[in-house]
Amino acid sequence: AKEYGANNYQVFHEGMMELSVDRIKLENDLRKAIENEELTVHFQPKYHAMSNKVIGAEALARWKHPLHGYVPPIDFIALAEETNLIVSLERLMIKKTLSYINDWKKKKLEVPRTSINISIVHFYQEDLVPFIEENLRKNNLIGDEIEIEITESIIAKGELHINEKLQKLRKLGIEISVDDFGTGYSSLSYLVNFSIDRLKIDKSFVQNFDNNKEVIAAIIAMSKNLNIKTIAEGVETKEQLESLIALDCLEVQGYIYSRPLEIQTYEEFLLKNNEL
Ligand code: C2E
Ligand code: CA
Ligand code: CA
Ligand code: CA
Repeated sequence: AKEYGANNYQVFHEGMMELSVDRIKLENDLRKAIENEELTVHFQPKYHAMSNKVIGAEALARWKHPLHGYVPPIDFIALAEETNLIVSLERLMIKKTLSYINDWKKKKLEVPRTSINISIVHFYQEDLVPFIEENLRKNNLIGDEIEIEITESIIAKGELHINEKLQKLRKLGIEISVDDFGTGYSSLSYLVNFSIDRLKIDKSFVQNFDNNKEVIAAIIAMSKNLNIKTIAEGVETKEQLESLIALDCLEVQGYIYSRPLEIQTYEEFLLKNNEL
């Protein structure tokens, strides 16, 4: 029994060591990948459910690790948030995304409004707005061509400096959407006070539509009253799409229309879409 206990302890201990060493390694690899601008961008189109027209696209970060292959975004985004790499990661995403839009426009492609995800940590950087302005200018773009997706927790904090930044961004023509809406926060009063354009109904509601019908209907009704737009994410089936249409939620994003596309495929998609 003594031996068992000792071994058990050792195994546990070694496992823990291995975990933290892996983590530090992964953190260093991520830092290098950001420095070398190796992260890539995939684009997922957003649609109008009645006309089937493309109304936007979301830029999503991808990281292909040299040994482990593609790392799931939730994993490396969480790692980046815990280690403060998130600001440089998102700045790389802003730089790359805006420069792609510029390239496509030079090729005479019509590019829909493109959203970029910005985390709360980034909103504590005083130069967030100037950084975005500078990159818009460098790429001959205006704010109307982009959108920023923030999480509900950002506005739930109700911090004045954040609302000021959101107002500045909106003055530039940039739309502000609240991502993963409905997950976690009960107080909705901040919606009235905060400067936002749209709620993104979280995919967990959409994918379990029948159990969440009332919640979804309430979100849509409330948005209408507040003059806020709504989009549903994670739409995969015809049933989900039709249920959303019935509730008059016509902006949708999800596999039913398109998965996130890699650069070359998205460019071909834009080309075909322009010909329609
Ligand atoms: P998100 O912002 O909620 O992005 C939507 C996620 O849902 C994406 O996952 C997308 O691929 C996935 N998705 C889209 N349509 C469907 C569908 O019909 N069904 C299902 N099951 N999933 C769908 P992805 O690309 O793995 O990204 C996961 C999360 O990582 C994102 O969730 C976002 O929170 C985060 N993320 C990705 N890129 C960035 C970034 O540049 N900055 C920040 N802060 N977060 C990012
Ligand atoms: Ca998002
Ligand atoms: Ca989301
Ligand atoms: Ca999410």
